[in-house]
Amino acid sequence: MAILPIRVYPDPVLHKRAAEVEEITAELRQLIEDMVETMYAAPGVGLAAPQVGVLKRIIVIDIGNDDAEKKRPHQLFKLVNPVIVEGRGETVCDEGCLSVPDIRENVKRKEWVKVEALDENGQPVVIETDGLLAICLQHEIDHLDGVLFIDNLSSVKRAMIKSKLRKKK
Ligand SMILES: [Zn+2]
Repeated sequence: MAILPIRVYPDPVLHKRAAEVEEITAELRQLIEDMVETMYAAPGVGLAAPQVGVLKRIIVIDIGNDDAEKKRPHQLFKLVNPVIVEGRGETVCDEGCLSVPDIRENVKRKEWVKVEALDENGQPVVIETDGLLAICLQHEIDHLDGVLFIDNLSSVKRAMIKSKLRKKK
């Protein structure tokens, strides 16, 4: 396993649409394991393949992997070609992103989602959830469409954050 470098805004790869995975190969499973290790090391609760520079529709999530909040149990999801097939309600959550360091903002999301995907063995997975896992799924799936959480904010707020990030760079 290997820890992969995480791409940081404004890396253009973060704004590209990732391609569907056609076949789950040994190489792809290796990438998934590397993504898991990278997420745990960061530490983060989720990571999408474009964040390590790979434009494939793969995400990994473990909402138990959070330093500040040890109350949540570990539950690791490795999802290939995830799709939100249903969503309900509205919620606002304070979000951050490994690709947008040191920025946290409230983002509007669906409160409940149903996600269909494949696991790393090509078996179908269905997740119906609310709470942090629902937020995280929406955040990571957005990455596969080249959308960052700051893209969901008002244009004024987004411009402020972008200029702050550019200055830091
Ligand atoms: Zn993110």
